[in-house]
Amino acid sequence: MTLAQCRALCAAVTENEPMSARTTLKIGGPAELFALPCREEEMTALLRAAPDAAVIGNGSNLLVGDRGIRGLVICTAALRQITREGDCLVLAAGAPLPRAANFALECGLAGLEFCGGIPGTAGGALCMNAGAYDGEMADVVVSSRYAEGGQTRAETDHAFAYRRSVYTDNPRRAVLSVTLRLAEGDKAAIGAKMESIAAKRRERQPLDRPSAGSAFRRPGSRAAAELIESCGLKGAAVGGAQVSEKHAGFIINRGGATCEDVKRLLALVGETVLRETGVALEPEIKMMGE
Ligand SMILES: Cc1cc2nc3c(=O)[nH]c(=O)nc-3n(C[C@H](O)[C@H](O)[C@H](O)COP(=O)(O)OP(=O)(O)OC[C@H]3O[C@@H](n4cnc5c(N)ncnc54)[C@H](O)[C@@H]3O)c2cc1C
Repeated sequence: MTLAQCRALCAAVTENEPMSARTTLKIGGPAELFALPCREEEMTALLRAAPDAAVIGNGSNLLVGDRGIRGLVICTAALRQITREGDCLVLAAGAPLPRAANFALECGLAGLEFCGGIPGTAGGALCMNAGAYDGEMADVVVSSRYAEGGQTRAETDHAFAYRRSVYTDNPRRAVLSVTLRLAEGDKAAIGAKMESIAAKRRERQPLDRPSAGSAFRRPGSRAAAELIESCGLKGAAVGGAQVSEKHAGFIINRGGATCEDVKRLLALVGETVLRETGVALEPEIKMMGE
């Protein structure tokens, strides 16, 4: 697809967009073409023309290659609409989760407190079945709409599993919107629960440093962070990538980290933990590009 073809379908398209500006790890080479649709029709038109385009949300679970991404990247961040329908909220693909949680609080709807501090979009969170503090998307999602090539369809069977859904298994499906069912609740109690979770995050997580959240999936009953810390790997570094001193499950960009630095650090941590504890860790961060 050329720049001109892309611009005929979507108003906001750039060439050689640095993905380091579009990911929370602040790493990644340029996307050949980068589109930021501000209406759902623009997104579906782009997908009809480029069914293999990569779709991203806030880039908060992504590690993009240093040489960048060939072809088209569609970012949903401008599709932010949130509407209430009774006890349900309908979130456009790019609606930020913290905004959705605050919206639910204002409506006096309980069930989204867990995601107040997850810096992803509705589409990314649905895809990843994002979760924290005993809540996950699977608990509240009732249906979603997606585009696949030229077709737009609805889904109610999301095949949710730990940090996984029907969308991780079908990367050509692009989430357009998500419907969540919540429950009437007490605003003060909802607000207090959100604040308590936010306080735990501030206390335990390196929120002031670029990261992609937990670098590894939970391997079983013990948290990845606990295993990594038990191997003395807190603070271990390769180039600009470092195992956070504050939370061993996070890999941070302490300045100038490359994708290669992060990959080598992931490998070092994985090999050490396997050797020392016999547990095989699997990255939770999604790789994209070259
Ligand atoms: C400080 C910090 C804390 C975090 N805490 C948590 C936590 O507590 N729990 C948790 O689960 N995660 C956490 N994360 C990780 C991350 O925020 C979540 O995985 C989030 O759901 C990713 O959403 P995103 O929009 O950023 O997706 P992206 O990172 O942009 O994409 C992630 C994946 O989803 C796909 N995707 C994105 N949008 C769509 C779409 N519209 N349709 C189809 N596929 C799509 C992408 O192709 C990619 O494979 C944290 C991250 C950070 C930086």
